[in-house]
Amino acid sequence: MNPCPCGYYGDPTHECTCSASFVARYRQRLSGPLLDRIDIHVEVPRVEYEKLADARRGEGSAAIRARVEEARERQRMRFRGLRTLANGEMGPAEVHRFCEVDEAGHALLRAAMRQLNLSARGYHRILKLARTIADLAGSERIQVAHLAEAIQYRPRALQL
Ligand SMILES: [Zn+2]
Repeated sequence: MNPCPCGYYGDPTHECTCSASFVARYRQRLSGPLLDRIDIHVEVPRVEYEKLADARRGEGSAAIRARVEEARERQRMRFRGLRTLANGEMGPAEVHRFCEVDEAGHALLRAAMRQLNLSARGYHRILKLARTIADLAGSERIQVAHLAEAIQYRPRALQL
């Protein structure tokens, strides 16, 4: 979705012409419970032509594909004998069993729960996403960096 009706809210080079209440009303069209069910929220800034035209490449798709296949294989092994196929399908009991975090991770989660006013669903969503981020990184343990990345994908409160 656009950040606001005119599309320039938060843009560093163009001014947004929408009033605060207009932006708030626009965002409310997506309800909280619906937003809560979306795993990954990312703010995507407008891209300048120069950046699009830049010939330098990031990680190639073949390398990414290999990494994703490895992560899927880890999940297949993890859920052997269970009906769950992938991290995103874990129920609360499986989250408890497969998404262990250390003391530093718990401290970060506690702070995030407070600051983001997370629901229980939001909390489990972060753990499942952190599990996948760890799998993609080839890490058996969920590390603080994986949790931090997952937390960053929760929607942030509107700053008006
Ligand atoms: Zn606007």
